[in-house]
Amino acid sequence: MKLYNTLTRKKEDFEPIEEGKVRMYVCGPTVYNYIHIGNARPYVVFDTVRRYFEYKGYDVTYIQNFTDVDDKIIKKANDENSSMKEVSNRFIKEALTDADGLNVKRATHHPRVTEEMNNVIGMIKTLVDKGYAYENDGTVYYDTKKFDEYGKLSKKNLDELLEGASERVDKDEAKKNTTDFVLWKPYKPGEPKWDSPWGEGRPGWHIECSAMAKKYLGDTIDIHAGGEDLIFPHHENEIAQSEAANGKPFAKYWLHNGFIMIDNEKMSKSAGNFFTVREIAAEFPYEVIRFFILNGHYRSPLNFSRELMQSCQNGLERIKNCNTDLKHYINNAPENGTVDENTEEITQFVIQFEKAMDDDFNTADAIAAIYELVRFINKNNKNNVSKQFAQKEMDVFEKLCNVLGINKEKEETKSDDDEAIEKLIAERTQAKKDKDFAKADSIRDKLSSMGITIKDTRHGVQWFRS
Ligand SMILES: [Zn+2]
Repeated sequence: MKLYNTLTRKKEDFEPIEEGKVRMYVCGPTVYNYIHIGNARPYVVFDTVRRYFEYKGYDVTYIQNFTDVDDKIIKKANDENSSMKEVSNRFIKEALTDADGLNVKRATHHPRVTEEMNNVIGMIKTLVDKGYAYENDGTVYYDTKKFDEYGKLSKKNLDELLEGASERVDKDEAKKNTTDFVLWKPYKPGEPKWDSPWGEGRPGWHIECSAMAKKYLGDTIDIHAGGEDLIFPHHENEIAQSEAANGKPFAKYWLHNGFIMIDNEKMSKSAGNFFTVREIAAEFPYEVIRFFILNGHYRSPLNFSRELMQSCQNGLERIKNCNTDLKHYINNAPENGTVDENTEEITQFVIQFEKAMDDDFNTADAIAAIYELVRFINKNNKNNVSKQFAQKEMDVFEKLCNVLGINKEKEETKSDDDEAIEKLIAERTQAKKDKDFAKADSIRDKLSSMGITIKDTRHGVQWFRS
């Protein structure tokens, strides 16, 4: 299994630190608004990575934080005269609603900065004690010149960064070097605060991920992931913090997803082409959003347009119809088929699917394998394959769809009138046998007025709620 490591700019074989286990950290959103389609991409992509590791038999510990202390949250709270806690609680709830809709599994833990303050302060203290950080008037900075490997992830050269930054006018006199970043900032009126060895205040953004990764996953983790916009400075700074504080490598593999474009333009609030997941979900089902995201390779830019969404909706429909038809077929299939049944034919699709996923999670090719399986199943449904063989098709179909998190079964809504519907269908079948077509048609109309569509197949009648 190969994955592309941003740290080495190469596809590498995946080798876990501990046999059979994957420890994975994914940066989560800052919760001051609904999540946007750009946030949805890492949610879906890395959930799929996790599902594939689980499919391969790994035990995955998956951590995704919520940033619940931040300037934007404080501003929102002040604007609407509420509290930071009220704003972040509300949008954490909304983010989880969207994640559930996208069929993203809950993380093993979803830590929040406000609940991890002791660890955050503890790590800053370690950095100060080791000489990697310094305090100036209540602010604690990370001294980037002290960390020899600063720039190794983003392939930026510290001297060049320093030179570039010195040309800018907004020089912060309190810092030793222009590239130094804030670990702790002093209290300002109207802001939340915590006690620390450097006085009351709150942490900078980067330190939270280092502190949480250490607490939940240990000093060295297998995979650290996030959007490519986080490579610099956020992930670069996480490496500087964690490796200096722990004296060990931080993450073995760094995975980054590409941007989402809107109608071939970069998404931005100022350009007005900015969509929340909730807005898109009002137009297309959540599962189509997920399927759309997986239709491109996670490292490539992904272009969002209504045409593409529509075509993804149609594609997903084909997969879901196959599921419905196959289920129905299995319920009515003969015990013994009349065609040659070769299980290896089904296995071929699994091999094709895994080959795609083993190559840096090529979900687009994995979806192509599922489409081919769908064609194979549809062909067999027309012939008389045995119940047993159809069940084997179903097992593989479900297993592969589950890795991508698509084709989530609708909640079984077996209700009281299901029995009534089935009774009507039986009466209609009898009427047709008796050649009482007027009665058969009137039953069909009655069902239709109840919102039930029926479909005659060679293996009995299928019905759907529309
Ligand atoms: Zn982070």
